[in-house]
Amino acid sequence: RAKLDGRNTYSFFTPEMRAQSVRALQLENALRRALEREQFTLHYQPQICIATGQITGVEALLRWQHPELGAISPAEFIPIAEDCGQILPIGEWVLREALRQLQAWRKMGLMLETMAVNLSAVQFRQPQFPQLVTRILQESGLPAHALELELTEGVAMDDPRAAIATMDELHSHGVLLSIDDFGTGYSSLSQLKRFPVYKLKIDQSFVRDLDDDANDRAIVSAIIRMAQALGMQTIAEGVETSGQLAFLREQGCTEAQGYYYGRPMPATQLQALLAGATGSRA
Ligand code: C2E
Ligand code: MG
Ligand code: MG
Ligand code: MG
Repeated sequence: RAKLDGRNTYSFFTPEMRAQSVRALQLENALRRALEREQFTLHYQPQICIATGQITGVEALLRWQHPELGAISPAEFIPIAEDCGQILPIGEWVLREALRQLQAWRKMGLMLETMAVNLSAVQFRQPQFPQLVTRILQESGLPAHALELELTEGVAMDDPRAAIATMDELHSHGVLLSIDDFGTGYSSLSQLKRFPVYKLKIDQSFVRDLDDDANDRAIVSAIIRMAQALGMQTIAEGVETSGQLAFLREQGCTEAQGYYYGRPMPATQLQALLAGATGSRA
């Protein structure tokens, strides 16, 4: 037995773990050069008002294309960028680029109410973060309410008071705040009621099986009702079927986002979609 324990201790660093950490180091090095080498782009996914069927806003989603490593998923590189501090310049670029794009669309006459941008807890915890947001908004020439910042429940984890103070400051400037992946995090309901957020994004893990899982239907319905009681809007993430959409409409969910309406797409493609939508209404 002792022998087995000993062997387990020595084999703690497995070949798979070694390969993973080699990959992480490789990505970390590549990330340090990615901005200057212009390897990032943003894709945009439409957010649809369920009642009217109109595109009200888009979510900006970061894409990284490396010449040798290929396309790397944000789910893989964002945590590495957070660990090595690169998320700060990258996140700032995302904010600036997303707002520049929204303003360019507006100048073409393509109306979009909001641009939603994902935020890392690392960015959010920077003492100067609200000032940075104000500065980038001013550069863009857009009103503050054109920007929606998506926070995850994790931002309030270590220091809820500081997090709420930052949220209040952003909110007082007119920036919209939403909670991403709602239902998967650790925020308590007593915290939630103090967050100045206007929208909950219902996590796609609850939406995926809505068509055949009664528990997920109960959870989604409860989230929508709670949001209504708190005066918040709701958007369902990962909507892929008409069945899911029908249920969400019946429950009074405000908006939907997912492959059913459109995948995240390059700016030119979203532009064509918006131009078509505007044309067909005229
Ligand atoms: P998220 O913010 O929750 O974004 C939603 C993710 O679900 C996106 O994955 C999107 O492509 C995907 N998705 C959308 N509709 C559907 C659907 O109908 N079905 C399925 N199966 N998936 C759908 P993506 O683009 O790979 O991004 C993953 C995560 O990476 C994001 O989750 C977000 O947490 C993070 N992320 C992306 N861009 C940024 C960024 O600029 N900054 C930060 N900090 N995080 C980012
Ligand atoms: Mg998001
Ligand atoms: Mg999400
Ligand atoms: Mg997320």
